[in-house]
Amino acid sequence: MSPTDASALLTVRGLQKSFGDNSVLASIDVTLGAGNVLALIGPSGSGKTTLLRCLNGLELADGGTIDVAGERRLDFGSPVGKKDLLALRDQSAMVFQHYNLFPHKTVLENVIEGPVVVQKRPRAEAAADALALLERVGLTEKKNDYPFELSGGQQQRVGIVRALALKPRLLLFDEPTSALDPELVGDVLGLIKELAGEGWSMVIATHELEFAREVANEVAFVDGGVIVERGDPEQMLRHPREERTRQFLHRLL
Ligand code: ADP
Repeated sequence: MSPTDASALLTVRGLQKSFGDNSVLASIDVTLGAGNVLALIGPSGSGKTTLLRCLNGLELADGGTIDVAGERRLDFGSPVGKKDLLALRDQSAMVFQHYNLFPHKTVLENVIEGPVVVQKRPRAEAAADALALLERVGLTEKKNDYPFELSGGQQQRVGIVRALALKPRLLLFDEPTSALDPELVGDVLGLIKELAGEGWSMVIATHELEFAREVANEVAFVDGGVIVERGDPEQMLRHPREERTRQFLHRLL
């Protein structure tokens, strides 16, 4: 897919981000076709979360461009205002490692908060959508519970429902199962796999290699703030080209 391909849902060119002297993203290029899934793998501290946060407008990159659906959304070479960041954020929704639910709001209130407060949708419509989504993930009975009353797996399913309720073009997952007890991981991965099957476009940072192999169209190995290697999941995970990728996979398998 060429950089100017309008059928690409997401095109990122030369994305850079430093925290003080620490260059975290050196120059990241990403292209994601509509309905595709990109899995980001790589050691802790390699920049995966920072990349996702830049894509969601939660973090301001220092350089590079982000295009969504063929439109230039952000060019970090020029001054970027809060309005531009919010416009970018509107394109995607993030599912966090630690769920990040509002602790003082019920499940239903958590799900409708974004649609009502940010997107200004009528509360009744947002609530109807939220209830349908909660039913889908088997959490109807938990709608009036608070996050602390739920298991980690249930909280993360609410996190996913909350992202879906925003009706974004792109779903971003930041290690969605790494805080879960092992017996709860399968449920959440199963739900993400279902969503991929329905054609949602996704970027997923994950340590679950088998899941990445099954769900992703492409896997990218991130190390030291660059994409060292990317490719077909089967090829990347079984026969990596780069020595750094090989070493990383060897440690995990
Ligand atoms: P990963 O998700 O691959 O574990 P991160 O993107 O979380 O990697 O972190 C990459 C690097 O960026 C780390 O060195 C981390 O300490 C640094 N970093 C991330 N966020 C911040 C921040 N808000 N302030 C300073 N340094 C940060």
